[in-house]
Amino acid sequence: MKFSDKYDVVVIGGGPAGSIAARTTVEKGLKTLLLEKDRDFGVPVRCGEGISLPGMKNFIEPNPKWVDNYLARVRFIAPDGTVLPINLIETGCVLNRKVFDFELARRAAEAGAEVRNRCCATGLEYNANGITVKFEHGDELFSVKSQVVIGADGVESRVGRWAGLDTSLPLADVETCYQVTLYYKSIEIEYCDFYFGNTIAPGGYIWLFPKGKNCANVGIGIAGDRAKDKSPESYLEDFIEKRFPGSSILSSMAGSVPSRHILKKMVTDRVLIAGDAAHQANPLTGGGILSGMWGGRLAAETAVEAFESGDFSAAFLYRYHKKWSKKVGEEHNRHYRLKKAVHRLSDDVFNRTAKIISDMEFEKRTLQKIFQTALAHEPGLIIDIFKSFLY
Ligand SMILES: Cc1cc2nc3c(=O)[nH]c(=O)nc-3n(C[C@H](O)[C@H](O)[C@H](O)COP(=O)(O)OP(=O)(O)OC[C@H]3O[C@@H](n4cnc5c(N)ncnc54)[C@H](O)[C@@H]3O)c2cc1C
Repeated sequence: MKFSDKYDVVVIGGGPAGSIAARTTVEKGLKTLLLEKDRDFGVPVRCGEGISLPGMKNFIEPNPKWVDNYLARVRFIAPDGTVLPINLIETGCVLNRKVFDFELARRAAEAGAEVRNRCCATGLEYNANGITVKFEHGDELFSVKSQVVIGADGVESRVGRWAGLDTSLPLADVETCYQVTLYYKSIEIEYCDFYFGNTIAPGGYIWLFPKGKNCANVGIGIAGDRAKDKSPESYLEDFIEKRFPGSSILSSMAGSVPSRHILKKMVTDRVLIAGDAAHQANPLTGGGILSGMWGGRLAAETAVEAFESGDFSAAFLYRYHKKWSKKVGEEHNRHYRLKKAVHRLSDDVFNRTAKIISDMEFEKRTLQKIFQTALAHEPGLIIDIFKSFLY
């Protein structure tokens, strides 16, 4: 395999954040190399594949090739089984990420980026005029020079650490997940469901995203520090046995999501990190496709500005950190505080709150109204949420 000696930008990681970053820099005329360690982009899928439709349209138009299903309603299911249907604020959809991620990478290539699979980055080294990226392709070792590196290498990111950024995560802020795609005779295709309860998913929840007729991604994410005695897989097996007896399992996977407030620093000299690598996934929901694509785009736009000004210092690149924080960060940190409050709720409080909300007229059940109602009726919840704002 042949590579140029020099690039303007090397992007490490071919998920949504990396492919969007590569497409953005190459469209602005920068010579860009995108390295993906796996054989296929988007495989293995480690995702429930749920995304907001308007959010996605900022990056790519929906297409039946990569959208499996559209969703208009969500149902929250309390520990005692109380079901709360709510209209989604924005239409959601369930992706086919194998096709979606492949398409994002294809578009980066189409725009002119050099896109390479089976290339695993192994290290970074600063040199006099830039940065050297080392990587393996099969048994061969390569190194290429670049002016800027964008690290989009996912939750197990090493790029940030190589560059000296603190990307460590306490166990409590890692959502450990297990998911299956199951076939069951009666999946309601228009709803996504979220099940809560300390006995079924401590410090997290179980989701169901219907992918098509009688087929759905059913997964669980629980706080890492609460997965010691029982694994997410065991929790999910118990749940499926009860809720979907006799279902068939078409695929399964384990993974994790960073579930943390925003990083202190997402940049250093010549290096920017984006997506899960920068802990950009929503800490309350675990959704990270959209925030990662925003991270990839904003990091890439900042890299372009760095070329225009000839300044690749951490101080200059920090404008990416500020832009992402302005666009997503404030909400991100609020979601982190809410996650901590929600994790402390007892099943009893959940059940009582669900009962109060289920008395509300369906059409009035917006997420905001629900929160207001819950707060008005449950002083315990107010105290918890208040506490959560204190640290
Ligand atoms: C079980 C589960 C369910 C989820 N459900 C949802 C959901 O429904 N909706 C949602 O929005 N989000 C969901 N997420 C989160 C979402 O999958 C991620 O936030 C999203 O994929 C982040 O995109 P990314 O580009 O930052 O990272 P990734 O998609 O993880 O891509 C990183 C890429 O970098 C590559 N890579 C890693 N190291 C190297 C290296 N050294 N060299 C080269 N390449 C490398 C990897 O192979 C990978 O392809 C879920 C996550 C899990 C685990």
